[in-house]
Amino acid sequence: MGKIWNSASYNLLLLHSPPVGLEHLHCDMKRGFSKARKKEPQVAKLLELDNTYQRIGLLAQRGVYEFHNDMSLLGASNGVSQVAETLELGKESDVVQQRVLTVLKNYYESPILVDKDIVKLSHGNEDFPEPILIKLGSYSFNLYAAIDCIFKELDGTLHILDFKTGKSDFDRRQAYIYLLVASYLYPDNKPIASFYNLETNTWSKKISASAEILEVYKYNLMQVSKKHQESLFLYRNNPDKFSQIYPANPGTSCRYCPFTSICNFAFISEAK
Ligand code: SF4
Repeated sequence: MGKIWNSASYNLLLLHSPPVGLEHLHCDMKRGFSKARKKEPQVAKLLELDNTYQRIGLLAQRGVYEFHNDMSLLGASNGVSQVAETLELGKESDVVQQRVLTVLKNYYESPILVDKDIVKLSHGNEDFPEPILIKLGSYSFNLYAAIDCIFKELDGTLHILDFKTGKSDFDRRQAYIYLLVASYLYPDNKPIASFYNLETNTWSKKISASAEILEVYKYNLMQVSKKHQESLFLYRNNPDKFSQIYPANPGTSCRYCPFTSICNFAFISEAK
């Protein structure tokens, strides 16, 4: 079979359909900029500037990895500063430094994985995860999901753990995507998934999924993958129809959008 270009991921799902309660922040045009026009120099520069959140997540994950790579750091009085040095935190912006330091201190004080049977712990610097090829009827797509950590519960159940930073609520849909991936990687196990916020030390409930839920998610992801490909195809053939293919939703959404400087529809309110 030739190379499969159709793809799906939680991020792509998020760009198509926001979590419940955050609909007012959704704008299809944001997806257009970040997916269809990401290679344009102006757009690429704005995407690059907007990577603070991503940077915090990545360094937080690396911090946890470093503590477990050398467990003596969790007992050393200068464990936090040693990990900060390994991460070269000093080279990061003030906000990144401050928030990652909080993560390192939190983890040093409550190392939640210390007594766990860890199967996999990502160091946060991996390239794209190996995709899972999903076939539904005549349509195939690659599903990408980078798993932060897997550990074994005492009864042998695999537990997929996703580390979070920031204030956003946990999104169950992401857990279902991890569980779908796990159903391909570990077909003999019936894993569970949860989220842990490294900044607030909060753990979500454990989430499991029936075979029916996983089928629904397979179908939803296929729809997202198809819609994404169709929009890209339309845009490439009709670049002047950008705003029809990716309609703008100006308003509150613009307050949290990296593209306001280049978007013709940007709504800049006084209250910003
Ligand atoms: S600036 Fe506003 S309208 Fe334009 S892409 Fe961003 S959110 Fe959408």
